[in-house]
Parts: sequence; C-alpha cells; structure tokens
Amino acid sequence: MTEQSLPRPAIAVVGYGSQGRAHALNLRDSGFDVTIGLRPGGPTEVKAKADGFTVKAPAEAVKEADLVAVLTPDMVQKQLYADVLAPNLKQGAVLLFAHGLNVHFDMIQPRDDLDVVLVAPKGPGALVRREYEIGRGVPCIYAVHQDRSGRAEQYALAYAAGLGGARANVIKTTFKEETETDLFGEQAVLCGGASSLVQAGFETLVEAGYQPEIAYYEVLHELKLIVDLFYEGGITRMLEFVSETAQYGDFVSGPRVIDASVKARMKDVLKDIQDGTFTRNWQAEYDAGLPNYRKFQQADKDHPIEQVGRQLREKMVWLQGQTETQPAARK
Ligand code: NAD
Ligand code: MG
Ligand code: MG
Ligand code: MG
Ligand code: MG
Repeated sequence: MTEQSLPRPAIAVVGYGSQGRAHALNLRDSGFDVTIGLRPGGPTEVKAKADGFTVKAPAEAVKEADLVAVLTPDMVQKQLYADVLAPNLKQGAVLLFAHGLNVHFDMIQPRDDLDVVLVAPKGPGALVRREYEIGRGVPCIYAVHQDRSGRAEQYALAYAAGLGGARANVIKTTFKEETETDLFGEQAVLCGGASSLVQAGFETLVEAGYQPEIAYYEVLHELKLIVDLFYEGGITRMLEFVSETAQYGDFVSGPRVIDASVKARMKDVLKDIQDGTFTRNWQAEYDAGLPNYRKFQQADKDHPIEQVGRQLREKMVWLQGQTETQPAARK
C-alpha cells in the first residue's frame, strides 16, 4: 500500500509532553489536520500554543476528531478514558495509544464501536522530532486491538508514516507484546539496567580510592561512544573500534559481571511484568501519591555521581545551549 492511499483522519492529540509534542509537530508537517487536547491552564498549554496549535479542552478536541491519540501519562489514562474519551469520542472513531499498558491490562475497555490501535515509536519524543526534521525517522511498532471499520490497520500505518516511522521501519506487533517488551526494556536494560550498572561501576572505582572525576568519565561519559557504535553497527562495530585489550577484557570480564544470576533476575522482572504484578504495584504507588517514587527519585539525584557530573559538565560548553534531547525549541 502506498502512503498516498492511506486514510487522512482529522487528529486530536491529547497530551503535549515528550511524545505528544513530537507526534503533533510531525503529523502536522506530514499534512494532517491536528488539534491539541489539554486541560486549560495545564503545564504544557503555553508550549502547544507557542508551536501554533489550536488547543481545546480534551472533551472538545475529542468530539471533532476522527482519530484521538492518547498521549498523557499512562497512569491518568484510565480516568481520562472514563471521564472524557468514552462520553465524547465520535461513533466509529479511532482510539490510538503509544503504549499498550492500559488496554492490555484491562484498565481501559474501549467502547465497541471504536477502532483501537497502537503506534509506539521506539525512542523518546525528542528523538522522534529531531529525526523527522533531518529527514529520517524513528522505527515504529503498531498493533490493532479492535477493528470495527475494517481499516484499523491502515489508520495505524497512516499515523506511523506521518510520524516519520516509515522512513526507518514499521513492524506489526500486538498490545501484549508491545506492553511487555517495552516495560522489560526500560526496566532491565535501558533505564534501570544501564543506570544501575553505571552507578555500581562508579561506586566500585571511588570506593577503591580513585578520583570521582576520572570514574565519571570512565563509566558514564564514555558510554555515549559505545552506545553510538551499538546504534550504528551493533556490538560487532563497537568491538571493531576499541583496542584489542578492551576486546579481551570485554570477553573475559563482561560475563563475570552480567552473569547467569543477572539473567535469572531479568526473568523474574519479566514474570512480574507479564503477570501484572508490576502494573498493579505501579498503580497502587501512583494512587498513594507516589511516596516511594519520590524517595527513589531523590536517592538518584543525591548519588555522588550526579554531583561530580554537574561540575564536569559545566566545562562542556556545547551542553550549555541546545543539546540533542533538548533542542532550543523544547524548553
Ligand atoms: P509526558 O509526561 O511527557 O506528557 C504528558 C502530557 O499529558 C503533558 O502534556 C501533560 O500536561 C498532559 N496531561 C497530564 N494529565 C492529563 C489529563 N488528565 N488530561 C489531559 N492531559 C493531561 O508523557 P509521555 O512520556 O510523552 O508519555 C505519553 C505516552 O507515550 C505514554 O503512554 C507513554 O508510555 C508513551 N510513550 C512514551 C515514550 C517516551 O519516550 N516518553 C516513548 C514511547 C511511548
Ligand atoms: Mg519504550
Ligand atoms: Mg515505556
Ligand atoms: Mg536506578
Ligand atoms: Mg578506557
């Protein structure tokens, strides 16, 4: 199917944060009619207006749209669906999510007349926008939960193409697969795994008496080069670029650190995700007003690597203005 023959729904984007802003800007630049739904006086309303969008209260934006993209935080979506979406969505509209959590774990049971789809870019919003602007795209995965029109898949593909995803790759998945793999990736490897690995490496060096500044460069700053090489050509390319000594150290010491016991605990994490334990705990934490979340957040902010990092980054003049994740327009 060509991009030209895909549907061109009028779109309401509800939420204007990391994903919402990137989706809205890319879809508008791809020729879609886009309205933003936000609570009046909410924190991102000014930004959406400054970007030239018509901003309406969520209920108003939703009433007029053929397709509604739900891009608010996951934990507010259940109530948003009950209070705003279910009563106001047009008959036969398309309801689109960027993460399958609420639908997969039955916190949202969408109306029978709706098409329900998922389009999840495999990257943060700032990257979704930046790649689009330079003529590239972030790969997107998509899924269909409910197909009443017979065209649900085409709506998802049209939206993914509008985000620029088709320039990179678009892969079909299910709400279950997207939800469980996304949660696992961010917990075990990307956010949780990588940050804990860096903190443990830093602590090991500093506790052994090495300078914190040198430990910071070694285990955090230099990670960028390694990840860029992964991105360009996988682990093979990284190994081509580092010294023979680094390669040998990788082979013999990597598996000593990340060993079978780590993988066994990754499987435990995955099990908690699959059986809903993680989501139940997260919902309870959210409903209790985030007491533990705030403690964990503060502990990360107070970690000594953050203090030394702040000092060292002041010397990196290129970080003072715009950065890759915060282009001048975003803040
Ligand atoms: P965010 O926290 O950056 O932004 C949320 C937006 O929703 C803000 O504009 C906020 O003002 C608005 N909002 C909050 N409560 C609202 C309400 N009750 N009614 C209307 N608007 C409300 O969110 P995000 O990180 O962009 O996440 C949005 C969705 O995208 C989630 O489903 C998330 O899982 C998914 N996702 C995020 C990323 C990412 O990199 N951040 C990547 C892929 C998918
Ligand atoms: Mg993700
Ligand atoms: Mg996620
Ligand atoms: Mg951590
Ligand atoms: Mg080195």
